Amino acid sequence: MTRIENETYNTRRFWITIPELESFDFIPGQFVTLDLPIHEKPNKRWRSYSIASWPDGTNTIELLIVLLEGGAGTTYLFNEIYEGSELVLRGPQGVFTLPDPIEKDLYFICTGTGIAPFRSMIHHIQLHNVPHKNIYLLFGTREKKDLLYKDEMMAMEQEVDQFKYIPTLSREKWEGCCGYVHAIYENLVHEKMNGDGQLPPSGFFLCGWKNMIDEAKQRIQQLGFDRKSIHQELYG
Ligand SMILES: Cc1cc2nc3c(=O)[nH]c(=O)nc-3n(C[C@H](O)[C@H](O)[C@H](O)COP(=O)(O)OP(=O)(O)OC[C@H]3O[C@@H](n4cnc5c(N)ncnc54)[C@H](O)[C@@H]3O)c2cc1C
Repeated sequence: MTRIENETYNTRRFWITIPELESFDFIPGQFVTLDLPIHEKPNKRWRSYSIASWPDGTNTIELLIVLLEGGAGTTYLFNEIYEGSELVLRGPQGVFTLPDPIEKDLYFICTGTGIAPFRSMIHHIQLHNVPHKNIYLLFGTREKKDLLYKDEMMAMEQEVDQFKYIPTLSREKWEGCCGYVHAIYENLVHEKMNGDGQLPPSGFFLCGWKNMIDEAKQRIQQLGFDRKSIHQELYG
């Protein structure tokens, strides 16, 4: 562990350097699995985390982790791990990655630390000038104090063409969007359909916890999209 910083009151950024490798190569959207000494049985010790940084040719990656009250793994990470601590990890793993080429509008839909793989993807797109259509990052959380990477995403919105960052709060009124993420992509799709009634070519990437993902899958299919246009990374 090379560096730890608080992102919010309950969420931390952890930077991990893999000394055995010169460069830790991965595809944006992939995750690593930590083997934490929290149980005797190996398969009860594994906790997966999306890589929040982007491939940059170095051997350091960033993870974004929220403390879950009573959670064995996150309690260990928040209380027992310091800069200089050693961790065992596997990876990169996973197939939650960008289409290549990007030929449709992309909806990145997430709650909480589910923003991590999308941060990796959008930086990668910027860094390599990856051709793309509209990209909407819909980030849902409860209150202003729960917003993650807010200033950075606002800056990316200025820097990356056709990239829109749309944070929404479900429990606080503010200058931005309110309520859950679902109404936002539904409205965007409806606006695009107003022209000719055709479904706009779109790919939906969902990341976060079960409630949001289950509801989004249902609503996106109700809009008329195929199951194949939906990709998901379920955190639990
Ligand atoms: C592929 C993948 C990538 C992941 N990436 C991230 C990531 O980037 N950042 C991150 O913070 N977590 C991520 N997770 C979740 C992470 O692996 C752990 O499940 C989480 O940190 C809780 O671990 P714990 O040991 O503290 O809790 P446990 O003791 O294992 O959790 C107890 C229960 O709480 C549920 N739970 C855990 N977190 C929440 C939550 N926030 N809201 C509601 N229910 C919850 C779990 O499903 C479990 O049933 C990811 C999971 C997967 C499978």
